[in-house]
Amino acid sequence: MNENAEVIYAAKLERLKKKLEERQFAVTLLKRKEEVLPFLKSAVPEGASIGVGGSVTLDECGVIEWLTDNPNYRFIDRYHTDDRRRAFRESLLADVFLMSTNAVTMDGILYNVDGTGNRAAALIYGPDQVYVIAGVNKITENLDAAIARVEQTAAPINNVRLKKPNPCTAFGECVHCNESSSICNQFVFTRRCQPPGRIHVVLVNEELGY
Ligand code: SF4
Repeated sequence: MNENAEVIYAAKLERLKKKLEERQFAVTLLKRKEEVLPFLKSAVPEGASIGVGGSVTLDECGVIEWLTDNPNYRFIDRYHTDDRRRAFRESLLADVFLMSTNAVTMDGILYNVDGTGNRAAALIYGPDQVYVIAGVNKITENLDAAIARVEQTAAPINNVRLKKPNPCTAFGECVHCNESSSICNQFVFTRRCQPPGRIHVVLVNEELGY
């Protein structure tokens, strides 16, 4: 990112951190995606069971590569299994769940749209600790802008990534389809973190995922 833009985003992130903390989220600010793995290595105790939500951000930060075949953790590997549904269910009882978010508003609300709902379910309840890794491109001014961000950017691009032939991929933004293959089925906004600190938002001053 341009160094001038970084200064502005750093100021924005400080404001966002305060708003999230007012809503009982734990928050860590990082400057670079290379700091995410060292942070997780120090935060997650060895031996912990770890589930993950589908996330380009986690990939870009090297998290999936780090966990795959890592003998120090019990990684519930949704990517190398012939029973993905079982991995999703096991992840709901993991010690730790890692994910990104579709959007985080400047007043401190997380917004997520899920196809299967496994990621949103783990965010809401189950794992003892949830880490949400988010780049500055996920920040929106308010909930209306968060919804627009998902409809205009995140969901259509995720349809392409997941090879779902839904109408947004041809139109270029959401058309509120009712296709059986729609990936937009569960809409969750997390207004506060309860119990306090269960959800730890890690904000990185770079663009990550989409
Ligand atoms: S609701 Fe349908 S059209 Fe809209 S983003 Fe989701 S899959 Fe695409």
